Amino acid sequence: MENRIFSVAIDGPSGAGKSTVAKGVAKRLGVVYVDTGAMYRAMGLKAVRLGIPADCAEQVIPILDATDISLGFSEGAQHVFLDGEDVTGLIRTQEISNAASKVSAIPEVRRKMVGLQQKLAERTSLTMDGRDICSYVLPNAEYKFYVTASPDARTSRRYKELAEKGSLNGMTFGELLLEMHERDARDSGRECMPLKKAPDAILIDTTYLSIEESIEAVMRCIKE
Ligand code: C5P
Repeated sequence: MENRIFSVAIDGPSGAGKSTVAKGVAKRLGVVYVDTGAMYRAMGLKAVRLGIPADCAEQVIPILDATDISLGFSEGAQHVFLDGEDVTGLIRTQEISNAASKVSAIPEVRRKMVGLQQKLAERTSLTMDGRDICSYVLPNAEYKFYVTASPDARTSRRYKELAEKGSLNGMTFGELLLEMHERDARDSGRECMPLKKAPDAILIDTTYLSIEESIEAVMRCIKE
């Protein structure tokens, strides 16, 4: 489409399908897809590995400067590196989801990640998904979306994803629903850059949409 650099910013709660949509839209537009959650997950993994409580700012802040988190892209797939190690395959467990949500509430952690994300968007056209992209990371993005779905639909998707990977570890649907509710409440309730719909972001409710229909809904808005 355009020759100049542009950004598609996508926010939303967990399990809303935003990463699938952001990835699909990136493919259609021929641009990079950046999953910012992976950066917070890598930071959560670091805290877990060091045995540091992820919500303890006093212990997380001192390790921040010595922590290197970066993203690499190969054949359209994003890889996240923690201190030089590719940790892409290690960050999708429920334990790391919760640790990511806790470290991400620490303002110093957010500032570090947001700086990296903004630099990426200056260099290349992309779709970027997260919680604060439309409102804080890329407030001037050309296209902004808030992708959401009902709590039941979001939990069902996440449950299926964990079950397929064999990562449920005995967790019931009800327990997952509760954990996702707690994570959403923490993400929306934190003081620093909370999850919220930016006033100028277009709302896409994927509760009754297939993946293709969700991607198409975003593409239609971009084309318009
Ligand atoms: O998107 P994902 O579920 O991988 O994100 C994991 C956690 O990282 C979220 O629950 C949220 O707390 C945090 N996050 C954030 N800001 C972003 C992306 C993710 O706070 N831009």
